[in-house]
Amino acid sequence: MAGSYLDPDLLVVGGGPAGISAALAASAAGMHVLLADERPTLGGQIYKQPGPGFTVTDPAAMDRQFRYGRSLIESLQDTDVSVRLRTSVVAVEGRQAVLVTEGSTATTVTAQRMVLAPGAHDRPVAFPGWTLPGVITAGGLQTLAKTQRVLPGRRMLFAGSGPVALAFPAQLGHYGAHIVAALEAGPAPRPADLLGIARAARGNTALLRDAARYRSLLLRHRIPLRYGRIVVRAEGDGRVERVVHAAVDADWRVVPGTEQSVDVDVLCLGYGFVPSLELMRLVGCAFDYQEDLGGHVVHRDEWHRTTVDGVYAAGDGAGVEGSFVAIDEGRVAGLAAAMDAGAMSADEAVAAAAPARHRLARRRALNVATSRLYRVGPGIFELSTDDTVVCRCEGVRGRDLAPAIEATDDVNVVKAYTRAGMGPCQGKNCQRQVAALIARRHGRPVADIAPATPRMPVRPVPISALADHSIESPTLFVAGDAGSGTGSGTGSGTGSDTGDDTESEGPGEP
Ligand SMILES: Cc1cc2nc3c(=O)[nH]c(=O)nc-3n(C[C@H](O)[C@H](O)[C@H](O)COP(=O)(O)OP(=O)(O)OC[C@H]3O[C@@H](n4cnc5c(N)ncnc54)[C@H](O)[C@@H]3O)c2cc1C
Repeated sequence: MAGSYLDPDLLVVGGGPAGISAALAASAAGMHVLLADERPTLGGQIYKQPGPGFTVTDPAAMDRQFRYGRSLIESLQDTDVSVRLRTSVVAVEGRQAVLVTEGSTATTVTAQRMVLAPGAHDRPVAFPGWTLPGVITAGGLQTLAKTQRVLPGRRMLFAGSGPVALAFPAQLGHYGAHIVAALEAGPAPRPADLLGIARAARGNTALLRDAARYRSLLLRHRIPLRYGRIVVRAEGDGRVERVVHAAVDADWRVVPGTEQSVDVDVLCLGYGFVPSLELMRLVGCAFDYQEDLGGHVVHRDEWHRTTVDGVYAAGDGAGVEGSFVAIDEGRVAGLAAAMDAGAMSADEAVAAAAPARHRLARRRALNVATSRLYRVGPGIFELSTDDTVVCRCEGVRGRDLAPAIEATDDVNVVKAYTRAGMGPCQGKNCQRQVAALIARRHGRPVADIAPATPRMPVRPVPISALADHSIESPTLFVAGDAGSGTGSGTGSGTGSDTGDDTESEGPGEP
């Protein structure tokens, strides 16, 4: 098909498993695909590659996850997919997207279709002391460990829920961290849960084997795993020194009299993930609400088409279900884009998507079997007090929010009154908590509280980047010399420059 760097048949946002799979499927059907990712290397969260300057001297010695990710990335390098790394997609409108490379060069791309695969971020949980230095999210700690091999302290407590609460402490123990305990907010599995998991095992044996391996690593590293407990506060003088945790009921509400304190210098939090929705909201997609998939999730059909014509969504960004689901969803979305563009027939697309759909059905059966164990309880959002900083970007405390929340149930209005959600993270850290506070005060389900209207740029970029004369769309930006240009992203424009970026860093040992 026709298409160039500036007007590809398909723009894929995100170079994680979902985005790479979508790009591979569409490219194989003959589409010209542009894939953009803001990170310096491909792989997304799970297949995060070592950072620039690190060298992997013996890839065979790396873990299975690393090797699989590397092979996925290499299969992209064998295609003519154009890859732009260190490139954030900061706005989308209709068929147009604004890409900012290296935080400085803006380019407008007109894509016939888009697959949005932006992944997820840690589900933030506000409690007294959560902003103390030494309190870190699982994603942050994983980035340090995977890309730099750095551990931020000596004695750690892990608190969270879901598969991550098993995998993380085990992985960190493997990196040499001293973890005093792992707290899982959900209940211990009952025989009925184990039976359900066993029934859903078909097609999921690799995952279940991993879970068993993580459990045995915890035992080997003598890391106690305690079920039904959450962190209620972190304390310390200038940084975390001790953490208080407590038992919770089925709704994750604290059981009085069960508090215990432990001395640590790092508290790692992993209460699951929430999809990164900004671009989907900006382009006008419709949403549903499913707390177990991360809260607001984009509405899609069976081909992962959103409600916006030509826009598809895949992977954790469309509902957090893990990397295997992301890979297969990306494939289905890429095939759908190719089918809708006429690059392949409906029969061909149906046949090509069938194995992925089969695997997805099996994976989801496992997710159903574990849902009782990992259901997010509302109690986790009831820990902040008047004194707790809820919006850490703007320093807004519970007491600052209270009058606005008293007056309105609209997140946008609370934002305008208090500035909560106006900082660099654009509400990623506080919006869920603000929604929970509103829901509680007004006696409404949190599902009914719409997130704040997103604003471009969805990533913090210097205004000088956006005021660049190369931006072509006057409907998006009116710049001094609008309409003059072709933009100037880095890279060759066509053909995969993935290799250039990843190889020039030197395949690196983390
Ligand atoms: C913090 C964290 C830790 C995890 N740890 C584990 C684990 O230990 N084991 C496990 O099995 N699973 C883990 N998961 C789950 C697993 O990483 C995901 O299921 C999987 O990576 C999802 O793939 P994806 O392609 O949907 O998203 P991702 O892999 O997250 O990839 C999304 C990509 O999109 C890019 N992106 C997002 N927005 C933009 C934008 N506007 N412009 C340009 N690029 C953009 C991001 O840089 C990223 O590279 C973790 C997830 C997270 C969020």
